[in-house]
Amino acid sequence: MNIAANLIRYNIVNRLRNRKISRIFSYALTANIFTTTARSNNKNQDNQTTKMEFDKEKLKERLTPLQYHVTQEAGTERPFTGKYNKFHEKGTYVCVVCQQDLFHSDTKYDSGCGWPAFNDVLEQGKVKLLRDASLGVVRTEVRCSKCDAHLGHVFGDGPPPTKKRYCINSASIEFIEPGTTT
Ligand SMILES: [Zn+2]
Repeated sequence: MNIAANLIRYNIVNRLRNRKISRIFSYALTANIFTTTARSNNKNQDNQTTKMEFDKEKLKERLTPLQYHVTQEAGTERPFTGKYNKFHEKGTYVCVVCQQDLFHSDTKYDSGCGWPAFNDVLEQGKVKLLRDASLGVVRTEVRCSKCDAHLGHVFGDGPPPTKKRYCINSASIEFIEPGTTT
């Protein structure tokens, strides 16, 4: 009797346990699907709101070959050759692709590195920073937050107060005099 009763109890407990496990399993599966969906939705929304797309062929017509190479192919202009390397006029620097204002002359300084150097961006959020492990060293790439154009790199050896050196290609930016509308 005891054996029979134990067998019945074992079967019932086992069935309940299996049901519970399968419920947990199906919940986990569903939750996983929901999470994935939510993530992909967010990604799509981010892309729609932040990324400004440009037709590559039209950009090639509008930009110089160097401007295109630097901004679209993450190229680098040769040091000491950029038009803003030794340029110290008062004004704003905008993205050459989408015209978003990025830097101000107040934060520009002569770092001696051969490219225009800025101590800070005009506003946080105007640029996005990405890890760049090309050339065998880890650097922080700077891109325009609005159109994704490559601008240059940022280093931690700049002067106070930020101690940052935004090393930016002249080919990625355009100088705008105060009072000029873009
Ligand atoms: Zn831009």
